[in-house]
Amino acid sequence: MTKSEINQINTEEVLDKYRAAGKIHQQIMKEARDKIKVGMNVYEYARFIDERIIELGGGSAFPVNISMNEEAAHDTPLFNDPRVFGEDVVKIDVGVHVDGYIADGAMTIDLSGKYDGLVKASEEGLKAAIDTVKAGVTTQAIGAAVEDTITSLGFNPVRNLMGHGLSQYTFHDEPSVPNINHPGFNTVLRVGDTIAIEPFATDGEGFVENGSIKEIYSQIKMKPTRVPFVRKVLNQIQEFNGLAFAKRWLESDKLDLAMIQLEREGIITCYPVLVEVSGGFVAQSEHTLIVTEDGCEVTTRG
Ligand code: MN
Ligand code: MN
Repeated sequence: MTKSEINQINTEEVLDKYRAAGKIHQQIMKEARDKIKVGMNVYEYARFIDERIIELGGGSAFPVNISMNEEAAHDTPLFNDPRVFGEDVVKIDVGVHVDGYIADGAMTIDLSGKYDGLVKASEEGLKAAIDTVKAGVTTQAIGAAVEDTITSLGFNPVRNLMGHGLSQYTFHDEPSVPNINHPGFNTVLRVGDTIAIEPFATDGEGFVENGSIKEIYSQIKMKPTRVPFVRKVLNQIQEFNGLAFAKRWLESDKLDLAMIQLEREGIITCYPVLVEVSGGFVAQSEHTLIVTEDGCEVTTRG
C-alpha cells in the first residue's frame, strides 16, 4: 500500500530515520566526488560505494546508478565490469535507507571539462525547485520552476523523467514530481511529506527511452516458485524487501535463466538503462526533502 492510499503523515520518529539516511548519503557523496577519476574501473567504484553505505550503518535503497553521457539513469556496473571512466559526463545516483526510510540523491561530475553549463542547468533547476517547495504548493509549480530555469539556461528538461514521493521500503511512491509545467500534476504538498526532486537537463530533445543494458531489478509480487534453481535466486531477492537490487549482487550458476523466469512470471521487474532519444548529453541533480510549513528540510544536503 502506498503512502498516498493511506494518506499517512510521517511522525517525528520516522522523519528522524529519513534524516539519519540523509546524513549517510551526504558522506557517501562527498567520498564519491573525491574518489572518482579518469581511468578508474566503474565496478570497483560501485563496490566502494556499496560497501561504504553498509560501513556507515545504512542499507542500499537501490544499486548506485553510474550513468554516462547520453545515458540519463539506471546504468550500474555488471559483475566484473571492465569499463573505466573516460572523459565522461557521469551521473552518480545513490539511495541509502535506514529501516526502509530512504535518502535519494544524485550529482553530475563532468570529467570532460566541457559540460559545465549543462551540469549547472540541472543544479540550478534543482535549486529553483527547492526554493518553490512549501506546504500548499502543487507538484505542477515545482515542475514549472525546473522547466523555466533549465530552458532559460539554454537546455531542455527531460520531459519523461520525474521526481517522486518516498515511503518506507518504497523508492518510487506518489506523488510524481515533474520536471515540466504540466497541469496533470496537481498534488498539493503537506507538512511532513517526503519527496525526491530530480531535474535532468539535456542538450538533446528532452526525452529518454529504454536502452539495452539490464542490471537493476526489484521484486513487485510475492508468488512461490517450485523450480529449485529459481527458488534459490528468489530467496536472495526477498532479502531486499522490495527495494531495487543489482543482478551482480546475486549468486547462482543459472542466474540469467532464473532472472528471465522470474521476470516472465511477473515477480520481478527490470529498470533498463534510460538513454536520451536524440543522443543528447544529460546532467542530473537530485535531493530528498521533507516539506515544512514555510519551506523544506533537505536531508541529502549538508
Ligand atoms: Mn535517485
Ligand atoms: Mn529519485
